[in-house]
Amino acid sequence: MPVALYPGTFDPITYGHIDIAKRASKMFNKVYAVVADNPNKNPLFTVEERLDMARAALEGIKKIEVIRYNGLIVNCLDEYEATSIIRGLRALSDFEYEFQMAFTNRNMNKAAETVFLMPNEKYTYLNSTMVKEIAKLQGDIGKFVPEFVKEKVEAKIRKLRRKKLV
Ligand code: ADP
Repeated sequence: MPVALYPGTFDPITYGHIDIAKRASKMFNKVYAVVADNPNKNPLFTVEERLDMARAALEGIKKIEVIRYNGLIVNCLDEYEATSIIRGLRALSDFEYEFQMAFTNRNMNKAAETVFLMPNEKYTYLNSTMVKEIAKLQGDIGKFVPEFVKEKVEAKIRKLRRKKLV
């Protein structure tokens, strides 16, 4: 009964994330999308907001459950009796970092296999950072995220702008 974890910051969830989640759900009996509780990435959204958006965006995909986790992904594997870690691979620029992570995780937990999936090519250059940058510059992010995520991003940025934080 293969179970996989799909970890990330999801700040916010994009069509690229959703694409990978759909592909993973066809390969495993259960996929937990793991929203990192403790990123050093200074996220735009709180973990609760990121969880809510991920849950709503992945709602229609069978076998996917969104969870929150605070700690090492290899410990999360044990807790959820999972053996695979799903990561999306976009361009060559992802490779070096992902390669290091995959080996580090396997060093810490022999059972940890990382499975790389490639998104539809139209999402190859899509990432959450770009979405936030475009929104800050008042561009349209409707092609990159679901409508309700777009509204949340725009509302968050308006709020930060009022406080003169962006
Ligand atoms: P992290 O903070 O760990 O990089 P992200 O939330 O940015 O987490 O991404 C989580 C996972 O989703 C990563 O494996 C990342 O490569 C993948 N991902 C994000 N955007 C895309 C995309 N456009 N296409 C394919 N995979 C993606």
